[in-house]
Amino acid sequence: MARAPFEIAGTQIKAGTRQTVEVPVAKLYTHTPLHIPVEVVHGRRSGPVMMVCGAIHGDEINGVEIIRRVLKNSALRHLRGTLLAVPIVNIFGFVQRTRYLPDRRDLNRCFPGSESGSLGGRIAYLIRSQIMEQVTHIIDLHTGAIHRFNLPQIRAELKKPETARMAEAFGAPIIINAGLREGSLRAYADSQDIPVITFEGGEALRFDQVVISSGVKGVVRVMRALEMIPARRGPKAPKKRSETAASSQWVRADIDGIMRPVARLGQKVSKGQRLAMVADPFGETEVAVTSPCAGIVICVNNLPLVNEGEAIYHIARFDELSEAEKAMDYFRSSYENQLDEDTVVPAHPWDEG
Ligand SMILES: [Zn+2]
Repeated sequence: MARAPFEIAGTQIKAGTRQTVEVPVAKLYTHTPLHIPVEVVHGRRSGPVMMVCGAIHGDEINGVEIIRRVLKNSALRHLRGTLLAVPIVNIFGFVQRTRYLPDRRDLNRCFPGSESGSLGGRIAYLIRSQIMEQVTHIIDLHTGAIHRFNLPQIRAELKKPETARMAEAFGAPIIINAGLREGSLRAYADSQDIPVITFEGGEALRFDQVVISSGVKGVVRVMRALEMIPARRGPKAPKKRSETAASSQWVRADIDGIMRPVARLGQKVSKGQRLAMVADPFGETEVAVTSPCAGIVICVNNLPLVNEGEAIYHIARFDELSEAEKAMDYFRSSYENQLDEDTVVPAHPWDEG
C-alpha cells in the first residue's frame, strides 16, 4: 500500500514527491502576509520525520545555507521517512538582520507559546502545532551571537539515548551536554520526548565555509544513522570524530579596553595560559586574560573593543583532554577542500579556492 500523503498547512504532499509549502504566520503592519517556507521531502517509504531548522535567531544565517545544501543531496531521492526543512524560522528577525522579533523578544524563549499570545508566542505556537507535532527528530541550527565565533559543536541532553545517538552521529568535534533553557525550541521538543540536538557554529551575519560544510555533513550523517538515507559505501568512518566536554566556562575581560587575541579557536590551552591581552589605547595599562582551566577554545569574541566583565573566550573542559585533541585533529584534517562546487569565495580571500 502506498504511504499516506504528508499534510501541512492544508497542503498534501504525496509520498515520493517534494514541495515547498508557505506556512502563514502573521502580517506586517501593512497587512502584508508573512509565511515561513517549509520544504517537505516526503519519501516513498515510511521512516523518521525529521525537522531541520535554522535562523530561529534571525541573524544566525549559516543554518540557512546548510539547509540549502542538504536539500541538494541526491540521496534524498531514496529518502525513507520525511524531511521538513525550515531554513528561516524567525522570518521577522531575518528580514531585519537581527536575532530578535520586532517586539525585541527572543523567539527561542517563547515556547511553547499560545494561540492568543504576543507575536513570539503565536509564532512558537504555530511552529509546534503545524510542524513539531508531526516530527520524530529535530536538528536546530545556530551560530554564535554577533561578533562571537563558535567552533562547530553539538549541544544536547545526553541522558536521552536517542538524542545522544544523534549527537554522536553528527560528528562535530565537540559535544556539550547542555541543560535546557526554558522557553527554547529544544526544551519544548525535549518535554515532548522528541529527540533534538542543537548545532552551533560560526558567528551571526556571516557565512563560514568550514562551519557550513561541517553542518551539512553532520545533518547527512544523522540521516544515515537514522536510516533515512542509505549508508555510505567505502572506507569505515574514523573512530574519533567527537569528544564530549565535562563542562565549559566563559572567560571574561578583567578591565575595559582593547583586546588582542592570543589563543585561537579550537586551540588546546592549559590552566593559566594566556588567551588575550587587554590594554588602554596607549598600552600603559595592560592585563593578560588567562585560562582558568585546561581545555579547548570553543568560542572567541571577534570584536576587539571590550568592557570589564565581558565574555571573550569560551573554554570546554574534558576528562580526557587528549581525546578532545584527537577529535580536533580529525576535524582539521577533514575540512580541507570542502568548498561547495558553486561557491567561488573561499573561507578567506587569500586562501586558494
Ligand atoms: Zn542561536
